[in-house]
Amino acid sequence: MFLLDGRKVKEVGLENLKSKLAKLDKTLTLAVIQIGNDPASNIYVSNKNKTATKLGCNFIHIKFDETVEEKEVLEKIDELNYDEDIDGILVQMPIPKHLNETLIQNRVKSYKDVDGLTDINAGLLVHNKDSLISCTPHGILTLLNYYDIKISKKHVVIVGRSNLVGKPLINLMLNNDATVTVCHSKTENLSDITKTADILIVAVGRPNFIKEDMVKDGVVVVDVGINRVDDKIVGDVDFDSVSKKVSAITPVPGGVGQMTILELFNNLYKAYHLRIQGK
Ligand code: NAP
Repeated sequence: MFLLDGRKVKEVGLENLKSKLAKLDKTLTLAVIQIGNDPASNIYVSNKNKTATKLGCNFIHIKFDETVEEKEVLEKIDELNYDEDIDGILVQMPIPKHLNETLIQNRVKSYKDVDGLTDINAGLLVHNKDSLISCTPHGILTLLNYYDIKISKKHVVIVGRSNLVGKPLINLMLNNDATVTVCHSKTENLSDITKTADILIVAVGRPNFIKEDMVKDGVVVVDVGINRVDDKIVGDVDFDSVSKKVSAITPVPGGVGQMTILELFNNLYKAYHLRIQGK
C-alpha cells in the first residue's frame, strides 16, 4: 500500500508556484467574501490567508453579517469584478439559506472565478476548453499525475455527483481518457460497481462509508470526504480495512484537502493570465 501524500505534493506545488509568481511584475490579489461566522469557514478562510502570505500574494477578506441582503453581496462582487487590482474572487461556502447560491456564484466574472464554479467555467470544462477548474477535482488530478498513476484507459468510478466535486471530476477524468462511471444516492448495487474500479474516487460526506468488501485488490482509492467524528477528521473510506487491499490511497487528513488550497492559488495565477489575454 502506497500513501498519496497530499501534504508533500502541496509543498512541492507551492514552491513551484512561488517561483512563477516572483517572475510577474505585479503582486496578485485574492478577494474572499465570507458571509456569517461558520466556524469551519473561519478556519478555511484563515488557511487561505496564510497560504497567500506564504506565496507573497495580497489577501482581501470581506466579511458580511449572516443577515446581509443579497443585493449588497451582488454589489460587492460587481465592485470586485471591475477592480483591476483584484485577480481572483471566491465566495466562501456555505452561505446562509436566504441567499441564492447559484446567482451569487455566477455573478463572479468567469476569468476571476478561482473556485471554478460558475456555469461558464463548468461548461468550458465539459467542452475540454481552457478554464478555471474547480479546485478539489483539479487537485485530485494533480495528485494522481504527481505519483504517475495512469488515468488513460482506466475505469474510474466516482461516488458522488455534486457540482463542487463529482461533476467536474467526471469531465476531468473523461478529458484524460478514462472510462468513467458515476454513482450517487439512487445508484443500485453500489458495491458491484465500486468493485470494478481501477481508480475509486469517493465524495459522499459519510464517515467510513466505503468498506473493504466494496473494492477490488490493487485499486487506487482517492478519499475526498472530510467528516468530523468525535473531534477527529475522518474520510468517506474506512481507511484501516480498505488500505489493506489498495495499491495506493489518500489519507484523511493529509490527502485531497491539501491539494484543494494549492489549486486555488494555481487558479489565481491562471486567472491573472486569462484576464490579460482578454478571455
Ligand atoms: P454533497 O454536495 O453533499 O454531495 C454528496 C454526494 O454523495 C451526492 O451526489 C449524493 O448523491 C452522494 N451520496 C449520498 N449518499 C450516498 C449513498 N448512500 N450512496 C452513494 N452516493 C451517495 O457533498 P460534496 O460537496 O461533494 O462533498 C463530499 C465530501 O467531500 C464531504 O465530506 C465534504 O466535506 C468533502 N469535501 C472535501 C473537499 C476537500 O478539499 N478535501 C472539498 C469539497 C468537499 P445525490 O446527488 O443523489 O444526493
